[in-house]
Amino acid sequence: MQAEYDSHNIFARILRGELPCFKVYEDADTIAFLDIMPQSDGHTLVVPKEPAVDLFGLSGQAAAAAIRATQIVARGVRETFGPDGVVISQFNGAAAGQTVPHVHFHIVPRYADQALRGHAREQQSMEVLRAHAERLAATLAKQGA
Ligand code: 5GP
Repeated sequence: MQAEYDSHNIFARILRGELPCFKVYEDADTIAFLDIMPQSDGHTLVVPKEPAVDLFGLSGQAAAAAIRATQIVARGVRETFGPDGVVISQFNGAAAGQTVPHVHFHIVPRYADQALRGHAREQQSMEVLRAHAERLAATLAKQGA
């Protein structure tokens, strides 16, 4: 059974340009922007433009485009922030930890000496987010993304 899509969710509003975001990447099918409550520095979200609550509701074409964009942006995250590892995650349903009902992929850099901050807990300052977004967007531009 497909979950019903709520077109007023936060990411739908960002996609329509009704709410701001620190965008670092866009192509025909996806956008990527920084998570406003990052679990680590450089935590980035890749969001398909197709309206779908979760991975199960996404078309095959949009899913393929999203994982391709995730790979592109994750390469940029790795080069920009120099983490020791990178986690890619994607939650389906509140029981799985999903808090925004528009499908998205998390790119979470991991630094060996740092624990993750809580999920969707602590808002980062706008100055830090802006600086991180500028650095990541510059790397992606340099990589030809
Ligand atoms: P989920 O829990 O649905 O997998 O992830 C949603 C993510 O969106 C969380 O990591 C949360 O911090 C982030 N988030 C929630 N509201 C906003 C927002 O208004 N802007 C941005 N950029 N991220 C948000």
